[in-house]
Amino acid sequence: MPEQGSEKRQSQKGGERFDLVVVGAGPGGYVAAIRAAQLGLRTALVERRSTLGGTCLNIGCIPSKALLDSSEQYAKALTGLADHGVKVGDVELDLATMMKRKDRVVRQLTRGVASLTKANGVVVYAGAGRVLGAGRVAVGASGDASDHGTGGGNETVLESDYVVLAPGSNAIELPVAPFDGTKVVSSTEALSFDAVPERMIVIGGGAIGLEMASVWARLGAEVTVLERLPTLIPGWDDELAAGLRKELERQGLAVHCGVNVTECRAEGARATVRAEQSEGSALELEVDRVLVAVGRRPYTVGLGLEECGVELDDGGRISIDDDFRTAVEGVYAIGDAVRGAMLAHKAQEEGVAVAELIAGRAGHVNYDVVPSVVYTWPEVAAVGRSEAELTRDGVPFRSGTFPFSANGRALGMGDSAGFVKLLAHEDTDRLLGAHVIGPWASDLIGECAAAMELGGSAEDLARTVHAHPTLSEGVKEAALGVDGRMIHGL
Ligand code: FAD
Ligand code: NAD
Repeated sequence: MPEQGSEKRQSQKGGERFDLVVVGAGPGGYVAAIRAAQLGLRTALVERRSTLGGTCLNIGCIPSKALLDSSEQYAKALTGLADHGVKVGDVELDLATMMKRKDRVVRQLTRGVASLTKANGVVVYAGAGRVLGAGRVAVGASGDASDHGTGGGNETVLESDYVVLAPGSNAIELPVAPFDGTKVVSSTEALSFDAVPERMIVIGGGAIGLEMASVWARLGAEVTVLERLPTLIPGWDDELAAGLRKELERQGLAVHCGVNVTECRAEGARATVRAEQSEGSALELEVDRVLVAVGRRPYTVGLGLEECGVELDDGGRISIDDDFRTAVEGVYAIGDAVRGAMLAHKAQEEGVAVAELIAGRAGHVNYDVVPSVVYTWPEVAAVGRSEAELTRDGVPFRSGTFPFSANGRALGMGDSAGFVKLLAHEDTDRLLGAHVIGPWASDLIGECAAAMELGGSAEDLARTVHAHPTLSEGVKEAALGVDGRMIHGL
Protein backbone atom coordinates (compact mmCIF):
# COMPACT_ATOMS: atom_id res chain seq x y z
CA MET A 1 0.00 0.00 0.00
CA PRO A 2 2.80 2.56 0.38
CA GLU A 3 2.61 4.73 -2.73
CA GLN A 4 6.01 6.32 -2.68
CA GLY A 5 9.05 6.95 -0.52
CA SER A 6 12.15 5.31 0.85
CA GLU A 7 13.02 1.73 1.83
CA LYS A 8 10.80 -0.26 4.22
CA ARG A 9 11.63 -1.01 7.84
CA GLN A 10 9.71 -3.78 9.62
CA SER A 11 8.59 -3.48 13.24
CA GLN A 12 9.05 -6.48 15.54
CA LYS A 13 5.30 -7.23 15.20
CA GLY A 14 5.45 -7.26 11.40
CA GLY A 15 3.90 -3.82 10.65
CA GLU A 16 5.89 -1.02 9.05
CA ARG A 17 7.95 0.98 11.52
CA PHE A 18 8.45 4.77 11.37
CA ASP A 19 9.69 7.52 13.66
CA LEU A 20 6.57 9.58 12.86
CA VAL A 21 3.18 8.88 11.27
CA VAL A 22 1.16 11.92 10.17
CA VAL A 23 -2.58 11.45 9.52
CA GLY A 24 -4.02 13.94 7.02
CA ALA A 25 -2.10 15.55 4.14
CA GLY A 26 -3.47 19.10 4.23
CA PRO A 27 -1.23 22.15 4.80
CA GLY A 28 -0.76 21.06 8.42
CA GLY A 29 0.01 17.40 7.76
CA TYR A 30 2.12 17.52 4.60
CA VAL A 31 4.25 20.37 5.98
CA ALA A 32 4.78 18.48 9.25
CA ALA A 33 5.81 15.38 7.27
CA ILE A 34 8.26 17.25 5.03
CA ARG A 35 9.84 19.15 7.95
CA ALA A 36 10.14 15.93 9.99
CA ALA A 37 11.82 14.18 7.06
CA GLN A 38 14.20 17.13 6.65
CA LEU A 39 15.15 16.66 10.30
CA GLY A 40 16.00 13.01 9.70
CA LEU A 41 12.84 11.31 10.98
CA ARG A 42 11.56 8.36 8.96
CA THR A 43 8.05 9.65 8.25
CA ALA A 44 4.78 8.25 6.89
CA LEU A 45 1.89 10.41 5.67
CA VAL A 46 -1.61 8.89 5.57
CA GLU A 47 -4.30 10.51 3.40
CA ARG A 48 -7.77 9.23 2.58
CA ARG A 49 -8.27 11.58 -0.40
CA SER A 50 -6.85 10.48 -3.74
CA THR A 51 -4.68 13.62 -3.90
CA LEU A 52 -2.49 15.40 -1.35
CA GLY A 53 -2.93 19.01 -0.17
CA GLY A 54 -6.10 18.66 1.91
CA THR A 55 -9.01 21.09 1.89
CA CYS A 56 -6.75 24.02 1.01
CA LEU A 57 -5.36 22.75 -2.27
CA ASN A 58 -8.29 20.59 -3.40
CA ILE A 59 -11.49 22.39 -2.35
CA GLY A 60 -10.43 25.52 -0.48
CA CYS A 61 -7.84 28.29 -0.75
CA ILE A 62 -6.47 27.41 -4.18
CA PRO A 63 -9.56 26.71 -6.31
CA SER A 64 -11.39 29.65 -4.69
CA LYS A 65 -8.52 32.02 -5.47
CA ALA A 66 -8.26 30.70 -9.05
CA LEU A 67 -11.96 31.48 -9.55
CA LEU A 68 -11.64 34.85 -7.81
CA ASP A 69 -8.82 35.79 -10.20
CA SER A 70 -10.63 34.53 -13.30
CA SER A 71 -13.91 36.22 -12.38
CA GLU A 72 -12.02 39.44 -11.65
CA GLN A 73 -10.54 39.34 -15.17
CA TYR A 74 -14.03 38.85 -16.59
CA ALA A 75 -15.49 41.71 -14.54
CA LYS A 76 -12.64 43.99 -15.63
CA ALA A 77 -13.14 43.08 -19.27
CA LEU A 78 -16.85 43.82 -18.92
CA THR A 79 -16.68 47.18 -17.21
CA GLY A 80 -13.26 48.02 -15.81
CA LEU A 81 -11.22 48.65 -18.94
CA ALA A 82 -13.14 51.48 -20.63
CA ASP A 83 -11.85 53.96 -18.05
CA HIS A 84 -8.29 52.99 -19.05
CA GLY A 85 -9.15 53.77 -22.66
CA VAL A 86 -9.27 50.11 -23.64
CA LYS A 87 -12.27 49.19 -25.74
CA VAL A 88 -13.23 45.55 -25.98
CA GLY A 89 -15.84 43.98 -28.20
CA ASP A 90 -18.42 41.51 -26.98
CA VAL A 91 -17.15 39.89 -23.81
CA GLU A 92 -18.26 36.30 -23.42
CA LEU A 93 -18.01 33.99 -20.45
CA ASP A 94 -16.71 30.47 -21.08
CA LEU A 95 -17.43 28.93 -17.68
CA ALA A 96 -16.27 25.44 -18.69
CA THR A 97 -12.81 26.79 -19.61
CA MET A 98 -12.68 28.84 -16.41
CA MET A 99 -13.42 25.69 -14.39
CA LYS A 100 -10.87 23.63 -16.34
CA ARG A 101 -8.22 26.25 -15.62
CA LYS A 102 -9.09 26.14 -11.93
CA ASP A 103 -8.81 22.35 -11.97
CA ARG A 104 -5.44 22.58 -13.74
CA VAL A 105 -4.08 24.92 -11.06
CA VAL A 106 -5.28 22.50 -8.37
CA ARG A 107 -3.74 19.52 -10.19
CA GLN A 108 -0.40 21.26 -10.61
CA LEU A 109 -0.21 22.08 -6.90
CA THR A 110 -1.43 18.73 -5.55
CA ARG A 111 1.07 16.94 -7.83
CA GLY A 112 3.71 19.39 -6.64
CA VAL A 113 3.06 18.37 -3.04
CA ALA A 114 3.29 14.68 -4.05
CA SER A 115 6.68 15.38 -5.67
CA LEU A 116 7.91 17.29 -2.62
CA THR A 117 6.95 14.53 -0.19
CA LYS A 118 8.64 11.97 -2.43
CA ALA A 119 11.78 14.05 -2.85
CA ASN A 120 12.01 14.36 0.93
CA GLY A 121 11.62 10.60 1.45
CA VAL A 122 8.17 10.75 3.08
CA VAL A 123 6.28 7.45 2.61
CA VAL A 124 2.69 8.21 1.55
CA TYR A 125 -0.15 5.79 2.38
CA ALA A 126 -3.49 6.16 0.57
CA GLY A 127 -6.26 5.27 2.99
CA ALA A 128 -8.15 6.30 6.09
CA GLY A 129 -5.99 6.42 9.22
CA ARG A 130 -7.26 5.30 12.63
CA VAL A 131 -5.30 5.64 15.86
CA LEU A 132 -5.10 2.34 17.70
CA GLY A 133 -3.18 3.78 20.65
CA ALA A 134 0.23 5.28 21.41
CA GLY A 135 2.47 4.70 18.39
CA ARG A 136 0.01 2.64 16.32
CA VAL A 137 -2.04 3.75 13.33
CA ALA A 138 -4.22 1.48 11.18
CA VAL A 139 -4.61 2.44 7.53
CA GLY A 140 -7.85 1.29 5.88
CA ALA A 141 -7.57 -0.30 2.46
CA SER A 142 -9.59 2.38 0.75
CA GLY A 143 -9.51 6.16 0.81
CA ASP A 144 -13.28 6.13 1.31
CA ALA A 145 -14.13 7.68 4.68
CA SER A 146 -16.89 5.08 5.11
CA ASP A 147 -14.15 2.52 5.70
CA HIS A 148 -13.20 4.21 8.94
CA GLY A 149 -13.24 1.70 11.73
CA THR A 150 -13.55 -1.34 9.51
CA GLY A 151 -10.67 -0.90 7.09
CA GLY A 152 -12.60 -3.06 4.64
CA GLY A 153 -10.96 -6.04 6.36
CA ASN A 154 -7.66 -5.12 4.79
CA GLU A 155 -5.81 -2.84 7.18
CA THR A 156 -2.10 -2.10 7.39
CA VAL A 157 -0.81 -1.23 10.84
CA LEU A 158 1.97 1.34 11.03
CA GLU A 159 4.09 1.59 14.16
CA SER A 160 5.94 4.70 15.19
CA ASP A 161 7.34 6.64 18.11
CA TYR A 162 5.13 9.62 17.36
CA VAL A 163 1.79 10.32 15.66
CA VAL A 164 0.60 13.73 14.43
CA LEU A 165 -3.12 14.12 13.71
CA ALA A 166 -3.99 16.73 11.06
CA PRO A 167 -7.48 15.68 9.90
CA GLY A 168 -8.75 19.20 9.14
CA SER A 169 -12.34 20.35 9.08
CA ASN A 170 -15.54 20.25 7.08
CA ALA A 171 -18.48 22.60 6.50
CA ILE A 172 -21.08 23.13 9.22
CA GLU A 173 -24.60 22.24 8.12
CA LEU A 174 -27.53 24.47 9.16
CA PRO A 175 -30.50 22.51 10.53
CA VAL A 176 -32.91 24.89 8.71
CA ALA A 177 -31.00 24.53 5.43
CA PRO A 178 -29.49 21.03 5.17
CA PHE A 179 -27.16 20.39 2.24
CA ASP A 180 -28.72 18.58 -0.72
CA GLY A 181 -25.64 18.75 -2.97
CA THR A 182 -27.34 20.67 -5.78
CA LYS A 183 -29.52 23.58 -4.67
CA VAL A 184 -28.42 23.92 -1.04
CA VAL A 185 -24.67 23.50 -1.04
CA SER A 186 -21.36 24.00 0.74
CA SER A 187 -18.33 25.77 -0.72
CA THR A 188 -17.17 22.51 -2.32
CA GLU A 189 -20.09 22.47 -4.76
CA ALA A 190 -20.05 26.26 -5.16
CA LEU A 191 -16.51 25.92 -6.56
CA SER A 192 -17.80 23.78 -9.42
CA PHE A 193 -21.26 25.00 -10.52
CA ASP A 194 -21.77 24.07 -14.17
CA ALA A 195 -23.76 27.23 -14.88
CA VAL A 196 -23.97 30.71 -13.44
CA PRO A 197 -26.95 30.82 -11.08
CA GLU A 198 -29.58 33.38 -11.99
CA ARG A 199 -30.20 34.15 -8.33
CA MET A 200 -28.17 32.93 -5.40
CA ILE A 201 -28.35 33.28 -1.64
CA VAL A 202 -25.24 33.09 0.49
CA ILE A 203 -25.94 32.35 4.15
CA GLY A 204 -22.95 33.63 6.17
CA GLY A 205 -21.02 36.85 5.59
CA GLY A 206 -17.58 35.46 6.54
CA ALA A 207 -14.57 34.69 4.37
CA ILE A 208 -16.05 31.80 2.35
CA GLY A 209 -19.44 33.43 1.90
CA LEU A 210 -18.04 36.73 0.62
CA GLU A 211 -15.37 35.19 -1.60
CA MET A 212 -17.84 32.85 -3.30
CA ALA A 213 -20.50 35.59 -3.43
CA SER A 214 -17.94 37.78 -5.24
CA VAL A 215 -17.10 35.06 -7.77
CA TRP A 216 -20.69 34.36 -8.78
CA ALA A 217 -21.83 37.99 -8.67
CA ARG A 218 -18.97 38.96 -11.03
CA LEU A 219 -20.01 36.19 -13.38
CA GLY A 220 -23.57 37.51 -13.51
CA ALA A 221 -25.57 36.01 -10.64
CA GLU A 222 -27.89 38.19 -8.58
CA VAL A 223 -26.43 37.49 -5.13
CA THR A 224 -27.94 38.17 -1.70
CA VAL A 225 -25.83 37.69 1.43
CA LEU A 226 -27.62 36.89 4.70
CA GLU A 227 -25.49 37.39 7.81
CA ARG A 228 -26.77 36.63 11.30
CA LEU A 229 -24.64 39.20 13.14
CA PRO A 230 -24.91 43.00 12.69
CA THR A 231 -21.85 43.31 10.39
CA LEU A 232 -20.09 41.37 7.65
CA ILE A 233 -16.83 39.62 8.64
CA PRO A 234 -17.71 39.84 12.36
CA GLY A 235 -14.71 40.23 14.64
CA TRP A 236 -12.73 42.30 12.13
CA ASP A 237 -12.03 46.04 12.48
CA ASP A 238 -15.37 47.90 12.21
CA GLU A 239 -14.16 50.31 9.51
CA LEU A 240 -12.88 47.42 7.38
CA ALA A 241 -16.22 45.61 7.71
CA ALA A 242 -18.22 48.74 6.87
CA GLY A 243 -15.91 49.63 3.97
CA LEU A 244 -16.16 46.14 2.53
CA ARG A 245 -19.95 46.13 2.76
CA LYS A 246 -20.10 49.46 0.93
CA GLU A 247 -17.83 48.22 -1.87
CA LEU A 248 -19.67 44.92 -2.27
CA GLU A 249 -23.02 46.72 -2.43
CA ARG A 250 -21.54 49.07 -5.02
CA GLN A 251 -20.64 45.95 -7.03
CA GLY A 252 -24.30 44.90 -6.94
CA LEU A 253 -24.46 42.41 -4.07
CA ALA A 254 -27.46 42.71 -1.75
CA VAL A 255 -26.37 42.44 1.89
CA HIS A 256 -28.64 41.87 4.88
CA CYS A 257 -27.00 41.74 8.30
CA GLY A 258 -28.71 40.85 11.58
CA VAL A 259 -31.02 38.31 9.94
CA ASN A 260 -32.20 34.95 11.16
CA VAL A 261 -32.78 32.35 8.45
CA THR A 262 -35.91 30.48 9.49
CA GLU A 263 -36.63 28.24 6.52
CA CYS A 264 -35.07 26.95 3.33
CA ARG A 265 -37.34 24.83 1.16
CA ALA A 266 -35.97 23.24 -2.00
CA GLU A 267 -38.59 22.34 -4.61
CA GLY A 268 -37.91 21.48 -8.24
CA ALA A 269 -35.17 23.68 -9.62
CA ARG A 270 -35.62 26.38 -6.99
CA ALA A 271 -35.16 26.99 -3.29
CA THR A 272 -37.20 29.40 -1.20
CA VAL A 273 -35.42 31.01 1.74
CA ARG A 274 -37.20 32.87 4.52
CA ALA A 275 -35.46 35.06 7.05
CA GLU A 276 -36.44 37.46 9.81
CA GLN A 277 -34.69 40.79 9.94
CA SER A 278 -33.66 42.40 13.23
CA GLU A 279 -36.20 45.19 12.92
CA GLY A 280 -38.98 42.61 12.69
CA SER A 281 -39.66 42.50 8.94
CA ALA A 282 -39.40 39.25 6.98
CA LEU A 283 -37.55 38.38 3.78
CA GLU A 284 -38.60 35.72 1.31
CA LEU A 285 -36.41 34.98 -1.68
CA GLU A 286 -36.69 32.37 -4.41
CA VAL A 287 -33.32 31.41 -5.86
CA ASP A 288 -31.68 28.62 -7.84
CA ARG A 289 -28.70 28.11 -5.48
CA VAL A 290 -28.17 28.54 -1.74
CA LEU A 291 -24.60 28.49 -0.43
CA VAL A 292 -24.41 27.79 3.30
CA ALA A 293 -21.08 29.17 4.61
CA VAL A 294 -21.59 29.51 8.36
CA GLY A 295 -18.24 28.14 9.49
CA ARG A 296 -16.39 24.83 9.62
CA ARG A 297 -15.94 22.22 12.32
CA PRO A 298 -13.12 19.76 13.04
CA TYR A 299 -13.37 16.52 11.10
CA THR A 300 -12.53 13.75 13.54
CA VAL A 301 -14.95 11.04 12.40
CA GLY A 302 -13.49 7.53 12.34
CA LEU A 303 -10.06 8.52 13.70
CA GLY A 304 -10.59 6.25 16.72
CA LEU A 305 -9.98 9.12 19.14
CA GLU A 306 -12.49 8.13 21.80
CA GLU A 307 -11.31 4.52 21.83
CA CYS A 308 -7.66 5.46 22.34
CA GLY A 309 -8.23 8.29 24.85
CA VAL A 310 -7.57 11.43 22.77
CA GLU A 311 -9.83 14.11 24.26
CA LEU A 312 -11.97 16.71 22.49
CA ASP A 313 -12.93 20.15 23.83
CA ASP A 314 -16.48 21.56 23.94
CA GLY A 315 -16.19 22.73 20.34
CA GLY A 316 -15.28 19.23 19.13
CA ARG A 317 -11.64 20.22 18.60
CA ILE A 318 -8.83 17.91 19.63
CA SER A 319 -7.53 19.13 23.02
CA ILE A 320 -3.81 19.88 23.02
CA ASP A 321 -1.30 21.56 25.31
CA ASP A 322 1.04 24.39 24.25
CA ASP A 323 3.31 21.84 22.53
CA PHE A 324 0.48 20.21 20.48
CA ARG A 325 0.41 17.12 22.75
CA THR A 326 -2.95 15.35 23.14
CA ALA A 327 -3.96 13.37 26.21
CA VAL A 328 -2.27 10.26 24.72
CA GLU A 329 1.52 9.99 25.06
CA GLY A 330 3.26 10.45 21.70
CA VAL A 331 0.09 11.61 19.89
CA TYR A 332 0.03 15.26 18.73
CA ALA A 333 -2.55 17.32 16.80
CA ILE A 334 -2.42 20.47 14.64
CA GLY A 335 -4.33 22.57 12.10
CA ASP A 336 -8.07 23.14 11.73
CA ALA A 337 -8.78 20.23 14.11
CA VAL A 338 -7.29 22.11 17.09
CA ARG A 339 -7.90 25.50 18.76
CA GLY A 340 -7.21 28.77 16.94
CA ALA A 341 -7.94 30.24 13.52
CA MET A 342 -8.86 27.84 10.72
CA LEU A 343 -6.24 29.11 8.28
CA ALA A 344 -3.86 27.26 6.00
CA HIS A 345 -0.79 29.27 7.05
CA LYS A 346 -1.57 28.70 10.73
CA ALA A 347 -1.80 24.94 10.03
CA GLN A 348 1.51 25.05 8.13
CA GLU A 349 3.35 26.86 10.90
CA GLU A 350 2.00 24.34 13.40
CA GLY A 351 3.22 21.57 11.09
CA VAL A 352 6.75 22.97 11.17
CA ALA A 353 6.64 23.58 14.93
CA VAL A 354 5.33 20.11 15.85
CA ALA A 355 7.95 18.38 13.67
CA GLU A 356 10.71 20.45 15.25
CA LEU A 357 9.46 19.71 18.78
CA ILE A 358 9.28 15.99 18.04
CA ALA A 359 12.81 16.13 16.63
CA GLY A 360 14.01 17.73 19.87
CA ARG A 361 14.21 21.29 18.54
CA ALA A 362 12.49 24.46 19.78
CA GLY A 363 9.34 24.61 17.60
CA HIS A 364 7.09 27.61 18.23
CA VAL A 365 4.19 29.52 16.62
CA ASN A 366 3.61 33.21 17.42
CA TYR A 367 -0.21 33.30 17.48
CA ASP A 368 -0.14 37.08 18.08
CA VAL A 369 1.07 37.60 14.54
CA VAL A 370 -1.10 35.46 12.26
CA PRO A 371 -2.41 37.51 9.32
CA SER A 372 -5.96 37.03 8.02
CA VAL A 373 -7.16 37.93 4.55
CA VAL A 374 -10.48 37.94 2.74
CA TYR A 375 -9.81 37.85 -1.00
CA THR A 376 -12.73 39.97 -2.18
CA TRP A 377 -11.99 43.09 -4.25
CA PRO A 378 -11.00 45.25 -2.53
CA GLU A 379 -9.20 42.74 -0.36
CA VAL A 380 -9.25 43.06 3.41
CA ALA A 381 -6.33 41.97 5.55
CA ALA A 382 -5.39 42.28 9.20
CA VAL A 383 -2.73 41.20 11.64
CA GLY A 384 -2.49 41.74 15.37
CA ARG A 385 -5.10 43.48 17.46
CA SER A 386 -7.99 45.77 16.54
CA GLU A 387 -8.89 49.16 18.05
CA ALA A 388 -11.90 47.55 19.75
CA GLU A 389 -9.71 44.88 21.40
CA LEU A 390 -7.11 47.41 22.56
CA THR A 391 -9.80 49.69 23.96
CA ARG A 392 -11.46 46.76 25.72
CA ASP A 393 -8.13 45.72 27.26
CA GLY A 394 -7.21 49.28 28.29
CA VAL A 395 -4.06 49.33 26.13
CA PRO A 396 -3.14 52.94 25.23
CA PHE A 397 -2.49 53.28 21.49
CA ARG A 398 -2.12 55.75 18.64
CA SER A 399 -3.30 55.14 15.10
CA GLY A 400 -2.39 56.31 11.62
CA THR A 401 -4.68 55.89 8.62
CA PHE A 402 -3.71 56.56 5.02
CA PRO A 403 -6.26 56.39 2.18
CA PHE A 404 -5.36 54.75 -1.14
CA SER A 405 -7.08 57.72 -2.84
CA ALA A 406 -3.86 59.63 -2.04
CA ASN A 407 -1.53 56.86 -3.31
CA GLY A 408 -0.17 57.40 -6.82
CA ARG A 409 0.06 53.72 -7.71
CA ALA A 410 -3.51 52.97 -6.58
CA LEU A 411 -4.80 55.90 -8.63
CA GLY A 412 -2.81 54.71 -11.64
CA MET A 413 -4.32 51.26 -11.28
CA GLY A 414 -7.82 52.71 -10.93
CA ASP A 415 -8.18 50.94 -7.59
CA SER A 416 -8.10 53.68 -4.97
CA ALA A 417 -10.84 52.53 -2.58
CA GLY A 418 -9.71 51.71 0.95
CA PHE A 419 -6.96 52.57 3.41
CA VAL A 420 -4.13 51.30 5.60
CA LYS A 421 -4.57 51.67 9.37
CA LEU A 422 -1.71 51.01 11.77
CA LEU A 423 -2.00 50.83 15.55
CA ALA A 424 1.00 51.34 17.84
CA HIS A 425 1.45 51.48 21.60
CA GLU A 426 1.13 55.05 22.87
CA ASP A 427 4.21 54.84 25.11
CA THR A 428 6.56 52.47 23.30
CA ASP A 429 5.42 52.95 19.66
CA ARG A 430 5.56 49.15 19.26
CA LEU A 431 3.26 47.99 16.44
CA LEU A 432 0.14 46.31 17.81
CA GLY A 433 -2.05 45.88 14.75
CA ALA A 434 -2.43 46.54 11.02
CA HIS A 435 -5.75 46.70 9.16
CA VAL A 436 -5.90 47.15 5.40
CA ILE A 437 -8.74 47.37 2.91
CA GLY A 438 -7.69 47.99 -0.65
CA PRO A 439 -5.85 46.61 -3.68
CA TRP A 440 -3.51 43.71 -2.85
CA ALA A 441 -4.08 44.12 0.89
CA SER A 442 -3.14 40.40 1.03
CA ASP A 443 0.43 41.22 0.04
CA LEU A 444 0.72 44.50 1.95
CA ILE A 445 -0.08 42.75 5.23
CA GLY A 446 3.12 40.69 4.89
CA GLU A 447 5.32 43.71 5.56
CA CYS A 448 3.25 44.63 8.63
CA ALA A 449 3.42 41.05 9.94
CA ALA A 450 7.20 40.93 9.46
CA ALA A 451 7.64 44.24 11.29
CA MET A 452 5.47 43.00 14.17
CA GLU A 453 7.26 39.64 14.32
CA LEU A 454 10.55 41.51 14.69
CA GLY A 455 9.09 43.63 17.51
CA GLY A 456 9.17 46.73 15.29
CA SER A 457 7.70 50.17 15.94
CA ALA A 458 5.65 52.48 13.73
CA GLU A 459 8.82 54.61 13.53
CA ASP A 460 10.72 51.62 12.07
CA LEU A 461 8.20 51.34 9.23
CA ALA A 462 8.05 55.11 8.80
CA ARG A 463 11.85 55.33 8.38
CA THR A 464 12.09 52.34 6.00
CA VAL A 465 12.62 53.46 2.40
CA HIS A 466 9.71 52.22 0.29
CA ALA A 467 9.92 52.15 -3.51
CA HIS A 468 7.91 54.77 -5.36
CA PRO A 469 5.29 54.51 -6.70
CA THR A 470 3.99 51.46 -4.83
CA LEU A 471 0.94 50.51 -2.81
CA SER A 472 3.33 49.78 0.06
CA GLU A 473 3.92 53.51 0.43
CA GLY A 474 0.45 53.47 1.98
CA VAL A 475 1.92 51.40 4.85
CA LYS A 476 4.79 53.87 5.30
CA GLU A 477 2.42 56.85 5.26
CA ALA A 478 0.10 55.22 7.82
CA ALA A 479 3.18 54.64 10.00
CA LEU A 480 4.10 58.33 9.68
CA GLY A 481 0.47 59.08 10.54
CA VAL A 482 0.85 57.32 13.91
CA ASP A 483 3.14 60.24 14.82
CA GLY A 484 0.94 62.83 13.06
CA ARG A 485 3.49 63.56 10.34
CA MET A 486 2.17 62.10 7.09
CA ILE A 487 3.70 63.74 4.04
CA HIS A 488 1.06 62.83 1.46
CA GLY A 489 -2.00 62.90 3.69
CA LEU A 490 -3.50 64.93 6.48
P1 FAD B 1 -7.14 20.07 5.78
O1 FAD B 1 -6.60 20.96 4.74
O2 FAD B 1 -8.62 19.98 5.93
O3 FAD B 1 -6.53 18.64 5.51
C1 FAD B 1 -6.87 17.55 6.28
C2 FAD B 1 -6.68 16.30 5.44
O4 FAD B 1 -6.80 15.17 6.30
C3 FAD B 1 -7.74 16.13 4.37
O5 FAD B 1 -7.13 15.96 3.11
C4 FAD B 1 -8.52 14.89 4.79
O6 FAD B 1 -8.94 14.11 3.69
C5 FAD B 1 -7.49 14.15 5.61
N1 FAD B 1 -8.05 13.23 6.59
C6 FAD B 1 -9.02 13.49 7.53
N2 FAD B 1 -9.22 12.40 8.29
C7 FAD B 1 -8.38 11.43 7.83
C8 FAD B 1 -8.12 10.11 8.21
N3 FAD B 1 -8.75 9.53 9.22
N4 FAD B 1 -7.19 9.41 7.52
C9 FAD B 1 -6.52 9.98 6.50
N5 FAD B 1 -6.72 11.24 6.09
C10 FAD B 1 -7.63 11.96 6.76
N6 FAD B 1 -7.33 29.33 4.50
C11 FAD B 1 -6.43 30.30 4.24
O7 FAD B 1 -5.48 30.48 5.02
N7 FAD B 1 -6.53 31.09 3.13
C12 FAD B 1 -7.55 30.94 2.25
O8 FAD B 1 -7.62 31.67 1.27
C13 FAD B 1 -8.51 29.93 2.50
N8 FAD B 1 -9.54 29.74 1.65
C14 FAD B 1 -10.43 28.74 1.89
C15 FAD B 1 -11.47 28.57 0.99
C16 FAD B 1 -12.41 27.57 1.20
C17 FAD B 1 -13.55 27.40 0.23
C18 FAD B 1 -12.26 26.70 2.33
C19 FAD B 1 -13.24 25.59 2.54
C20 FAD B 1 -11.22 26.87 3.21
C21 FAD B 1 -10.30 27.89 3.01
N9 FAD B 1 -9.26 28.11 3.89
C22 FAD B 1 -8.36 29.12 3.65
C23 FAD B 1 -9.06 27.29 5.09
C24 FAD B 1 -7.97 26.24 4.83
O9 FAD B 1 -8.35 25.43 3.75
C25 FAD B 1 -7.77 25.39 6.09
O10 FAD B 1 -7.50 26.22 7.20
C26 FAD B 1 -6.61 24.41 5.91
O11 FAD B 1 -6.82 23.59 4.80
C27 FAD B 1 -6.43 23.57 7.17
O12 FAD B 1 -5.38 22.66 6.99
P2 FAD B 1 -5.33 21.26 7.76
O13 FAD B 1 -4.08 20.60 7.31
O14 FAD B 1 -5.55 21.47 9.20
O15 FAD B 1 -6.60 20.46 7.24
P1 NAD C 1 -16.59 32.17 9.15
O1 NAD C 1 -16.66 31.81 10.56
O2 NAD C 1 -15.46 32.99 8.63
O3 NAD C 1 -17.92 32.95 8.74
C1 NAD C 1 -19.19 32.40 8.96
C2 NAD C 1 -20.18 33.54 9.01
O4 NAD C 1 -21.48 32.96 9.06
C3 NAD C 1 -20.03 34.41 10.26
O5 NAD C 1 -20.03 35.75 9.86
C4 NAD C 1 -21.24 34.03 11.11
O6 NAD C 1 -21.69 35.09 11.90
C5 NAD C 1 -22.23 33.67 10.03
N1 NAD C 1 -23.31 32.78 10.46
C6 NAD C 1 -23.24 31.75 11.34
N2 NAD C 1 -24.45 31.16 11.47
C7 NAD C 1 -25.30 31.83 10.65
C8 NAD C 1 -26.67 31.71 10.34
N3 NAD C 1 -27.41 30.77 10.89
N4 NAD C 1 -27.21 32.58 9.46
C9 NAD C 1 -26.46 33.55 8.88
N5 NAD C 1 -25.15 33.71 9.15
C10 NAD C 1 -24.57 32.87 10.01
O7 NAD C 1 -16.71 30.79 8.36
P2 NAD C 1 -16.60 30.47 6.80
O8 NAD C 1 -16.67 31.70 5.99
O9 NAD C 1 -17.56 29.37 6.57
O10 NAD C 1 -15.13 29.90 6.71
C11 NAD C 1 -14.75 28.75 7.47
C12 NAD C 1 -13.31 28.81 7.88
O11 NAD C 1 -12.47 28.78 6.73
C13 NAD C 1 -13.01 30.09 8.62
O12 NAD C 1 -12.38 29.78 9.83
C14 NAD C 1 -12.11 30.86 7.72
O13 NAD C 1 -11.08 31.52 8.45
C15 NAD C 1 -11.53 29.83 6.78
N6 NAD C 1 -11.41 30.47 5.48
C16 NAD C 1 -10.46 31.41 5.31
C17 NAD C 1 -10.36 32.08 4.12
C18 NAD C 1 -9.33 33.11 3.97
O14 NAD C 1 -8.39 33.14 4.75
N7 NAD C 1 -9.44 33.96 2.98
C19 NAD C 1 -11.24 31.81 3.09
C20 NAD C 1 -12.21 30.87 3.30
C21 NAD C 1 -12.27 30.20 4.50
